[in-house]
Amino acid sequence: MPGVTDLLAGLADLVLPGGCAGCGGAAGRPLRYGACPECVAAVARLRPHPTRPDPAPSGLPPCAALGDYQGVLKELVLGYKDRGRHRLAGPLGRLLAEVVASLATGPVVLVPVPDSPAAARARHGDHLRRLARPAAARLRAAGQPVVLAGPLRARSRPDSTGLDSGQRAAAAAAALRPRPVRLAGLRQRVARTGEPVILLDDVITTGATLAAAAGRLARAGVPVAGAAVLAATRRRSVDIEH
Ligand SMILES: [Zn+2]
Repeated sequence: MPGVTDLLAGLADLVLPGGCAGCGGAAGRPLRYGACPECVAAVARLRPHPTRPDPAPSGLPPCAALGDYQGVLKELVLGYKDRGRHRLAGPLGRLLAEVVASLATGPVVLVPVPDSPAAARARHGDHLRRLARPAAARLRAAGQPVVLAGPLRARSRPDSTGLDSGQRAAAAAAALRPRPVRLAGLRQRVARTGEPVILLDDVITTGATLAAAAGRLARAGVPVAGAAVLAATRRRSVDIEH
């Protein structure tokens, strides 16, 4: 695979009215990579690595992240996800492809964790699915066959703040629903080809959502080999989440 700086080349033509997508500086100037040179360098230094929340929820598959959820990477994810900078999907998706490639080198099936309908409305479309397309394109261009699958849908659910880990796991599981026809198709495909199924998400914090998605698929006969995320929240203390 080419270097990470190459992967960011899609940012080259972005002139973002709010300035650098990473630090907010340099407003009004054409920005190489859509971010200032310092921010580009900060992301280019990141390399996919295994990550695991502690404690990890039961059923969580092996996870890999590009970096910690902090600094420039956090700002790029937030800019893309919650501040309407949809064109960051290309470069962030290509970075996510690097994480997938760290988990599996052959043909893969990618399953983005679905947005709830309310979140997708707020974001003008499912943000993980939009990220998955350039990720898949990048992997295919590097010679890795990829299938994108959407066997799950998400229901809106209340804020999980204040829930304990068991309650959070139950809420995450209840929020994910199978799409029966797609799920059956995926089960048949995986049974036939043995292709590993990799979940995609933007940020892992407690791991409850990824564990719930893996559990849903496993119960339907689709084993999940791993999860690729852009960023992992570093939990400094259990108090942070309450
Ligand atoms: Zn910057």
